[in-house]
Amino acid sequence: YTQLIMEHNRSGHNKKTMEGPDIIEKGHNPSCGDDISLELKLDGDIIKDAAFTGVGCAISQASTSMMIDLIKGKDIQEALDLVNTFIGMIKKEISDEKELEKLEDAIAFKNISNMPARVKCAVLSWHTLKEALAQR
Ligand code: ZN
Repeated sequence: YTQLIMEHNRSGHNKKTMEGPDIIEKGHNPSCGDDISLELKLDGDIIKDAAFTGVGCAISQASTSMMIDLIKGKDIQEALDLVNTFIGMIKKEISDEKELEKLEDAIAFKNISNMPARVKCAVLSWHTLKEALAQR
């Protein structure tokens, strides 16, 4: 799992700006210094494209990248459902493996709750996405 986090942190394939995003939402985690700017392009209810820029620790950057892989092509309701599943996993409210499978790579953060200082890093982008989608 740590391997997955390092790979996503290094690859940076979702780290870019896009032309004419429909929504730009910024997220900040003062306890670590993570800053992200999430950009979304929508086609009706579908998240057609997503990308981010910003600075932060490996955990926040990898979590954002995994989330973007996951939500591309999903509709808003599915994306919000994934946010709730991810946050439920972090809070240890959801532990059913079948349900967590839909998080794909992001399941790598399952044990982050054992490192309380890093929880805010892991959930930053997911909260930011929720804020972004609430604008519509
Ligand atoms: Zn951080």
